[in-house]
Amino acid sequence: MNKSDMHAAPPQVIERDAGTARAAKSDGPAPAPNFLRAIISDDLRTDKYGGRVVTRFPPEPNGYLHYGHAKSIILNFGLAAENNGTCHLRYDDTNPLKEEVEFEDAIADSVRWLGYDWGGHRYHASDYYDDLYRFAEWFIGEGLAYVDSQSAEEMRATRGTLTEPGLDSPYRSRSVAENLDLFRRMRAGEFPDGAHVLRLRIDMASPNVNMRDPAIYRIRHASHHRTGSAWCIYPLYDYTHCISDALERITHSICTLEFQDHRPLYDWIIEKLAGGGMLERPLPQQYEFARLNLTYVVLSKRRLIELVDKGFVDGWDDPRMPTIVGARRRGFTPEGFRLLAERIGVSKADSWIDMSVLEECMRDDLNARAQRRIAVLDPVKLVIDNYPEGQSEDCFAPNHPHKPELGRRALPLTRALWIERDDYSESPPKGYFRLTPSAEVRLRYGYIVKCTGAVKDESGNVVEVHCTYDPDTRSGTPGADARKVKGNIHWLSAAHAVPAEVRMYDRLFSVPFPGARNPWGNRGGADEPAPARRTVVAGDEDPADDDVERNYLDDLNPESKRVVRAFVEPALAAAAREERFQFERHGYFVADLADHAPGAPVFNRSVSLKDSWAK
Ligand code: ATP
Ligand code: MG
Repeated sequence: MNKSDMHAAPPQVIERDAGTARAAKSDGPAPAPNFLRAIISDDLRTDKYGGRVVTRFPPEPNGYLHYGHAKSIILNFGLAAENNGTCHLRYDDTNPLKEEVEFEDAIADSVRWLGYDWGGHRYHASDYYDDLYRFAEWFIGEGLAYVDSQSAEEMRATRGTLTEPGLDSPYRSRSVAENLDLFRRMRAGEFPDGAHVLRLRIDMASPNVNMRDPAIYRIRHASHHRTGSAWCIYPLYDYTHCISDALERITHSICTLEFQDHRPLYDWIIEKLAGGGMLERPLPQQYEFARLNLTYVVLSKRRLIELVDKGFVDGWDDPRMPTIVGARRRGFTPEGFRLLAERIGVSKADSWIDMSVLEECMRDDLNARAQRRIAVLDPVKLVIDNYPEGQSEDCFAPNHPHKPELGRRALPLTRALWIERDDYSESPPKGYFRLTPSAEVRLRYGYIVKCTGAVKDESGNVVEVHCTYDPDTRSGTPGADARKVKGNIHWLSAAHAVPAEVRMYDRLFSVPFPGARNPWGNRGGADEPAPARRTVVAGDEDPADDDVERNYLDDLNPESKRVVRAFVEPALAAAAREERFQFERHGYFVADLADHAPGAPVFNRSVSLKDSWAK
């Protein structure tokens, strides 16, 4: 069956034009309005929080941050900054089994790289373990929590469905004294994992499944990367998150849409605690926005881990990975991400953003700031037969066409040059204005040359192109423009050019919805967000999203990385790591963060000059 036959209505994919159109509107000093900005300005106007705006970015330290997190970071830190507020970096470290210090450091680095500062407000959910425990005992004392001793399966089976209410646990009516005793013994380590959980006593018949006596503590005999073996019971996400927010006096707690159904629980917990005098009012308020979904990549941690572990990419910071560390190595810019965030905006409706929108943001930012340089990526010799052997002269190229203040640099011209192999053709297609026998082109910033033919090897490959030059046509000299030629090619002096490794990166996947056989019907493709985490009653979370119809790994783009031996202009040998350039006629490149060295240059292609994926 033809792939396109299977699709009914396409999901909303925001194409480049949409993004650009919106950007035009949002250009200028005032940020574009969105519902979160409106809420905050309302709260400031009504003085709901005494003028405070405090947001937080709450990553779980179990992996590297991806492009989706960038949206959340820019939103949370950005909203705070716009309103002279603060944004906290809070590690949500409630799962001792998966979290590591290595990830914490990488997360902090990524936030800083994106241009944000938590100003000393770096916290951990584990900072609040004592408070969380104390509050849990308070809930027990109030008759609002009980120890349930059912098995995980029993709890799952009695949880009900979207249409049927759940069933009360046989342990629901335990006395306060018994609950307190059991909970303290859970903490003391008397019971094995899974023997009991602590649940809130809310309403097993609630139409909202999250309100059906959610578990808030479970037994986990595991060492935690920060609290070591101090605890063998750990609080669950829904319980921890709202209390952490309230303790930090967060005003606007912004999260992704899948948490919408958790909001009543969020409010229930902190309202009760505030009512009991445990938390200060005004309480934080949760708001939800649509997560970033991007075509041609996957943004689920589980898949990113698989790509790294199975060696499909060269690590977390592989420039093809949609991670922040990957983006940095790719040569993407923090400003480009902020441009993306502004262009796509925030909304409450799920949508997909086409990769071309992100690429265009990077191009727009790099175009404005990157200095121009020359590189020949697929070199073939061009010999100027009437140019004296041993002679050399400097041609001058501007560092930026729109920024004369950035000056210009010398490009030595000699008799033997490197040019791009495809700038010569013996049987040119229609509209080809470059080198073909007897055609004339301008050597950019140099002379007009006339092609006289080429030398080939036994198998017919061009090894050397020949030409003659017209000494009266040097760029920038009087009368140089008298003769018009259509072609204009770049070149490097073979005697001066520096060999370089250039890694030509492209999209990681070759289809917009990796792994989705029917991307339209399959809940938006393989990267559909998993249900909000830690919604379990007990036992292990991480429900496997296994309704994907084919393996997303089959959609990896075999052309996503191509390494070429290129020549670059002499100035590039001295480039600093992470310095970004436009290689004329090719695209934007960055000196590799890890492998580039003076004398052994390595460049990564960040993005091509034009979108080669557009249909
Ligand atoms: P997990 O599978 O562990 O839940 P996660 O990608 O949701 O992974 P978190 O560490 O929980 O990672 O995310 C931290 C914050 O980033 C959360 O507030 C979350 O809502 C937000 N976030 C995660 N993915 C996206 C996305 N695609 N777009 C916008 N925000 C996101
Ligand atoms: Mg999450």
